[in-house]
Amino acid sequence: HDYTKDDIRQMVEKEHVNFLRLMFTDLFGTVKNVELPISQLDELLDNKIMFDGSSIEGFVRIEESDMYLFPDLSTWMTFPWSEEHGKIAGVICSVRKPNGEYFEGDPRNNLIRVLKDMEKAGFTSFNIGPEPEFFLFKMDENGNPTTKLNDSGSYFDRAPMDQGEDCRREIVLTLEKMGFDVEAAHHEVAPGQHEVDFKYANALETADNIQNFKIVVKTIAKRHGLYATFMPKPLSGINGSGMHMNMSLFHDKGNAFYDKNGELELSQDAYYFLGGLLKHAKAIAAIGDPTVNSYKRLVPGYEAPVYIAWSASNRSPLVRIPATRGLSTRLELRSGDPTANPYMFIAVLLESGLDGLRNKLQPMPETSRNIYKMDAEERSENEIESLPETLKDALNELAKDDVVKNALGERLLKGFNTAKHLEYDAYKLQVSEWERKQYMEHY
Ligand code: ADP
Ligand code: GLU
Ligand code: MG
Ligand code: MG
Repeated sequence: HDYTKDDIRQMVEKEHVNFLRLMFTDLFGTVKNVELPISQLDELLDNKIMFDGSSIEGFVRIEESDMYLFPDLSTWMTFPWSEEHGKIAGVICSVRKPNGEYFEGDPRNNLIRVLKDMEKAGFTSFNIGPEPEFFLFKMDENGNPTTKLNDSGSYFDRAPMDQGEDCRREIVLTLEKMGFDVEAAHHEVAPGQHEVDFKYANALETADNIQNFKIVVKTIAKRHGLYATFMPKPLSGINGSGMHMNMSLFHDKGNAFYDKNGELELSQDAYYFLGGLLKHAKAIAAIGDPTVNSYKRLVPGYEAPVYIAWSASNRSPLVRIPATRGLSTRLELRSGDPTANPYMFIAVLLESGLDGLRNKLQPMPETSRNIYKMDAEERSENEIESLPETLKDALNELAKDDVVKNALGERLLKGFNTAKHLEYDAYKLQVSEWERKQYMEHY
């Protein structure tokens, strides 16, 4: 939407908005808010809202803490639920320095920077259709999540098996009120696990959508007495939650990945882009799977990828090419999960793909067999490597990959590395229940 300041003033009046929620995303993919009473609307529209950047982890140093929030009016929305004190309008903001320049540590600003490379390469849009999965858990009497799932349903099950159905329906209706184009919503493979797919959009819009989606899911679940989590592997022994990313590049003439006469009806650009994704897959994992827990999902047997390969026919490899062609021709990267910061994730996907185009990186041949049934020798004959097994391994891969590093820029990269090494080191200090069970009596 191309809202003018006057449009905004009218909407605020018509919808009886009492509060303004200014949103931006930190390094960890968490949405941060500053809430203002409606009396501050003019200040906001005039880009006069300041905040202390040093209080946001990984953001800025104390000596340069004054930051401004410039609202991106095209993201304006009124949350369709009403709170105790009236309606809340939300707008996604760009974090700026006191002189008005983009602050490089804002992941959304960085994605805007990286999208210029796409334009330079002659494309008009990087389209992403994300598939964020999540679990619904029961809450205890204090509103804290338990590890009790709310149902025992499975893939595409219907009520009464699927007790999350009511909640999921309300999620869908709420998303639609907020302008989302929901394509499908279904129970996922694991008990208590769900997926809501919304229509692809350009990179920036999709990243914004993912952030709003997570807010809606958590808010509506809570209203149903449920706790929604996007943690990748909340329970061992059942599927985890991924966030598959469907990708395509468009140019003036349509979908640049489609070529009626190409092999598999894919264009040369599609193959090069794929070549780039495969080449940088290990470093991409650091950003797409950025938590210790992410790597507990990337194991054989639960529909999550483990090996770096691609296929047009089966779902075991890292990249799948769904059968639809024409406008919907796309590559689906299956490694990422919903803990990824969507702005950073999309930035590294784009730069990896563009590196493939620039350097004409040919992907390995298609793997049509189930890779999980191959042994290590067969995999190595087919040049199939593995994704990193831990966050630490992924961070080490990131350190070696200049293309992925450049996609983040120095500021984000430094903040990310510092925080994630600390996170891994904190994890390393823990002794788990599994270890005690395994070793206490044995030794
Ligand atoms: P799956 O079969 O893996 O569950 P879905 O059909 O549920 O996949 O998801 C398809 C996703 O791909 C949707 O978000 C859809 O909007 C998106 N999509 C369709 N066409 C394109 C395209 N050209 N570029 C990017 N994403 C696309
Ligand atoms: N939940 C699976 C994962 O971890 C994906 C299931 C599916 O194909 O939708 O990636
Ligand atoms: Mg799914
Ligand atoms: Mg999928």
